[in-house]
Amino acid sequence: MKEFNINNLVRKNILELQPYISFRDHNEFENPVLLDANESPYGDFNRYPDSTQKNLKQKISRIKNISPDQIAIGNGSDELIDLVIKVFCEPKKNSILMMNPSFAMYGFYASINENKVVKLNLNENFEIVKDDFLNVIKDDQLKVFFLCSPNNPTGNSIEDIEFYVKIFNGIVVVDEAYIEFSGKESCIELLEKYPNLIVLQTFSKAWGMAGARVGVAYASKEIIKLINTIKAPYNVNSLSLNSVIKSIDNHEQLNDNIKNTLIEKFWLQNEFQNIDCIKKIYPSDANFFLIEFGNVEKVYQKLLENEILTSKRSPQIADCIRINIGNRKENIRLINVLKQCETL
Ligand SMILES: *Cc1c(COP(=O)(O)O)cnc(C)c1O
Repeated sequence: MKEFNINNLVRKNILELQPYISFRDHNEFENPVLLDANESPYGDFNRYPDSTQKNLKQKISRIKNISPDQIAIGNGSDELIDLVIKVFCEPKKNSILMMNPSFAMYGFYASINENKVVKLNLNENFEIVKDDFLNVIKDDQLKVFFLCSPNNPTGNSIEDIEFYVKIFNGIVVVDEAYIEFSGKESCIELLEKYPNLIVLQTFSKAWGMAGARVGVAYASKEIIKLINTIKAPYNVNSLSLNSVIKSIDNHEQLNDNIKNTLIEKFWLQNEFQNIDCIKKIYPSDANFFLIEFGNVEKVYQKLLENEILTSKRSPQIADCIRINIGNRKENIRLINVLKQCETL
């Protein structure tokens, strides 16, 4: 095998780009007078946030047991998806590969960047068909494969992820937005072995901080450096950085969130058994269910009439609704309406 060199995968103009360096963030001071950034000297939020996000990276580094220079912080993992595409995909030339059905944002950002989206249809169990994968990757314009596990909207974890990372000649992004609910090992531990791997996680789901907009990418130092080079210097605001640091310090919150979600999941599963309009509940490693209904349109409308909002988007799973696990009060409301759907 040819020796791996990340620079062969990076867009040429990005390789030549100099990052914007905030001088104060890259040097240590004891008691500085800050007259360098035209900020106001007054108020609680008068200072720009740390562009290197070092305090948060240090915290994450400790809980994930990975070096801070293998961590990039994004304004949600959505921003990181966009940045990864920008680093590796030449507009109007390269394409991304994504599973189908999967998270729509990969296609959204690829299209904005004028990169073609190649879709790999999953089988009836929502697994990747390896032969299809081997076939589709013959396209040498494919640069980034977004592999979502547990997958949104199907809920299942993808088997044998290492196979895809090993075989693919471009970058494989494993999106682990729901990993905390799954009990499965994160692909972070594969990073040492595979320089073409990027793992995405987020504070939006199990951590309960979607409003803070903080996502994390784990990868080789070289890839992290490239992401940091092109990100907006102050991409995550100081309120969000501080809230996430606090919630890491208060680790029990995460464990409580996960525990309660799993209790509610179990409760819902039990209740679902008595609801006739449900045809099938797909196995879920996440905080949501993909459910097939006999008359999906009527059920969706009935839920909506009762102001219960659910998700029904992918044409590949047109007879399914994705329903996320709420608290007990919300789940009771859901079940009560679903019971009224029995006659539909
Ligand atoms: C919710 C979700 C995210 C999280 O995005 P943020 O921008 O971090 O809120 C990422 N990937 C998938 C598959 C998701 O479902």
